[in-house]
Amino acid sequence: METVTRFAPSPTGYIHIGNVRSAIYPYLVARQNNGRFILRIEDTDRERYVEGATELIEDTLKWLGLEWDEGPLVGGEHGPYFQSERLEIYHEWVKKLLESGRAYVDPTPAEKVDEYRKQCQEEKKPFLYRNFRPSELDTEYKEGLPIRFKAEPKEYDWEDAVMGPMHAGPETQDDIILIKKDGYPTYNFAHIVDDALMGVTHVMRGVEYLSSTPNYLALYEAFGLNVPVLVSLPHILAPTGNKKLGKRDGAKSVTEYRDDGVLAEAMLNYLACLGWNDGTEQEIYTKDELVERFSLDRVQNSGARYDETKLLWMNGQWIRRIFDEQGARALYDRTIDFWPEVAASASEEYKLKVLSIIYDRLKTLSDLKEMTAYFFADPAIDMEMLKSNKFLKKLSEAELEDLLKKSIAKLSDVSDWNENTLQDALNELLAETGRKPAELFSLIRIAVSFAPFSPALNLTLDTLGRDTSLARLNEVARSI
Ligand code: GLU
Repeated sequence: METVTRFAPSPTGYIHIGNVRSAIYPYLVARQNNGRFILRIEDTDRERYVEGATELIEDTLKWLGLEWDEGPLVGGEHGPYFQSERLEIYHEWVKKLLESGRAYVDPTPAEKVDEYRKQCQEEKKPFLYRNFRPSELDTEYKEGLPIRFKAEPKEYDWEDAVMGPMHAGPETQDDIILIKKDGYPTYNFAHIVDDALMGVTHVMRGVEYLSSTPNYLALYEAFGLNVPVLVSLPHILAPTGNKKLGKRDGAKSVTEYRDDGVLAEAMLNYLACLGWNDGTEQEIYTKDELVERFSLDRVQNSGARYDETKLLWMNGQWIRRIFDEQGARALYDRTIDFWPEVAASASEEYKLKVLSIIYDRLKTLSDLKEMTAYFFADPAIDMEMLKSNKFLKKLSEAELEDLLKKSIAKLSDVSDWNENTLQDALNELLAETGRKPAELFSLIRIAVSFAPFSPALNLTLDTLGRDTSLARLNEVARSI
């Protein structure tokens, strides 16, 4: 049987880190089995609908490389893929339940339902609507009134691919609403119909749907449907405490990380491994490797903690990997939007050179802004920074000046300015002055960059070029 999975987001805002695994895992399972991955937009809650959210969802999936085989933009034979365009289908399906006596039109006003709920609260009893179900059930399809399922509560045993064997008693099943009075279906009903019509074999979603699963099992049964593989994905926990990561804890949208210079490869890698591992020590996976290695039975059944430091570490690894495996140009192509403003008029060739000496220090591409500005414009001279440096603060002003002058003289003598001749000159300078490398190199490095750190000194000087390097050193020597 063909494996069919789906990601079924509600367009209520951006996709954040906490809920994107419900897209990644179904994608991996579909690809691994040469199956289909469907994107379905669950837009039946008109009050929570957010304009533009569908585009954000599409953008996020595209960026992560989770291409869908059926759904918005690409179409497919099981459409429409927006639930709001499938109302007739839900109405047809609910009619089947009305006919078989497993659904009823409920004339009870909402205020009355609230009263029942309050009554139960006061009596400290769980609120089950089925206990208040009208005595005469109206099974004639009507618009303008909610249609409810008629529960026939019982015990259920089932297997959740991540949570393991599950059991639920009759108290978990109720007369849930199938069609609301506005004519739109509830999630509870619509997803059962759609998953069935779209041939979905694996339903993967957040663990928050686990408690409703007995109601879903009752619906599958009432329709005579096969139950798909049910997969509950545990929450992703906020960095501290024991609550799930939510928008309120500052869970950023996935694409905000893109704008902050995180690579899609790193994001996918990090999120896939949040609460899953293949049993080895491997941490860096390409998308193809994830497709090959992923398995639902190694998804943790407890919450995984979101750790931004780890994400950024992984991003650094991916930046290096792209440079080392695909070349400077491939990485450069990803950096276009991340250079400091002062680099705007610099040549591509020069930026490539800067990137080649600095890439292995980047955690995100946006680090380029702060880390490379001095390659493009003279930095402001900050004598305080120079004199308070931990290696230089022991030196008197006279010593600093002397050392700078000797450095200028030595470097001025370098006729063929390149990384090797510069390294030789710096070594000679060390020998001649008797200074420690930390002292001498910190002085020159700070004088040409006034940055907290820079690449290896010979590479920095080589990239800056002879004229700029010497001019900056002279300027500092005058300022001491
Ligand atoms: N529309 C639901 C949500 O966004 C999807 C749950 C599911 O995947 O079935 O939470």
